[in-house]
Amino acid sequence: MRWSLHLGSLGETEIRIHVTFLLFLLWIAAIYYRQGGTGGAWQGTLFIVLIFLCVLLHELGHVFAARRYGVQTRDVTLWPFGGIASMEHMPEKPSQELIVALAGPAVNVVIAAVLLIWLGASFEPEKLAQIENPAVSLAAKLAGANIMLVLFNMIPAFPMDGGRVLRALLAMRMGNARATELAANIGQGFAVMFGVLGIFYNPMLIVIAAFIFLAASGEAAQAQLRAVAQGTLVSDAMITQFQSLATNATVDDAAEALIRTTQTEFPVVDGGGRLRGVLTRDAMIKSLKERGPSTPVIQVMDANVPTVSVRAKLDTALRSLTQRRCPVVGVTDSDNRLVGLLTIENLGEMMMVHSARPGAVSGPWGRLS
Ligand SMILES: [Zn+2]
Repeated sequence: MRWSLHLGSLGETEIRIHVTFLLFLLWIAAIYYRQGGTGGAWQGTLFIVLIFLCVLLHELGHVFAARRYGVQTRDVTLWPFGGIASMEHMPEKPSQELIVALAGPAVNVVIAAVLLIWLGASFEPEKLAQIENPAVSLAAKLAGANIMLVLFNMIPAFPMDGGRVLRALLAMRMGNARATELAANIGQGFAVMFGVLGIFYNPMLIVIAAFIFLAASGEAAQAQLRAVAQGTLVSDAMITQFQSLATNATVDDAAEALIRTTQTEFPVVDGGGRLRGVLTRDAMIKSLKERGPSTPVIQVMDANVPTVSVRAKLDTALRSLTQRRCPVVGVTDSDNRLVGLLTIENLGEMMMVHSARPGAVSGPWGRLS
């Protein structure tokens, strides 16, 4: 993810922090400094670090719940509005998705409850909302921040947890694609409402509204792609006309092919027609610069290219493309020979063709046929 910094790793999961989250922290620190000088700023910084910890624990709630169902998380990125855990996929079963989505906010509910019990008699509810006020005790502010995290994350719109909870609940009654479409529509309804409220109360809400609106469109488009992919074979979507490179080709040969064709990824195929790897444009240019034009492609190609059978369903290939972030998936016949390629770009083209065909009526979301 661009504009984010590596913080550490937890098992398979990388912890990252987005620069906008740092800006948000700076904003809070500046408010503390203005009101309480250097001492206030230090106290503010402690508060910031603690909030940061609560957001992280929230995300780890999702991560560990997902691990229970065998779903790994590549990274957790912290943003000002919370965090995003990029899981390989959501569990297919709605009941499992529901638990994974609720596990994050549940962590903040527990933290808030513990703090409120600890505060006991000295607890004043009206102070919970004043996180920028230095006169309120740290524990009360932290409890307030956790309650706000829960409320914000439970807004029933993507990419908030509430959106996933809503989708999971809907998916228990209807198909997954239909549930996503409906949940995305409801989310956009909320976004419009926030936008209108923002005009009257707080311009920040307009920014949040725009963000939710876009996220909902993205989620709906992905669900549509998944729905189409489930009913399509790899053979109907793959590229069959492409240039491949022999195993004895050099980077210079590859560079020539790059100029002659519109391809940016070149499969390297041996004498038996089997896929040995893929040379991307970036790797090609890099090795041309650093190792010279006579470098054999076999030394600089990516040998870890996933393959799918030509008779497989397209959603299998889609999973390889999106989860493993591979630029290309090889398609093989029953003799393991390379017969086609799949790229994100050509899946996009397939979707365009699919939604333009008569019978595929497109509403604001396109239609899931
Ligand atoms: Zn969450």
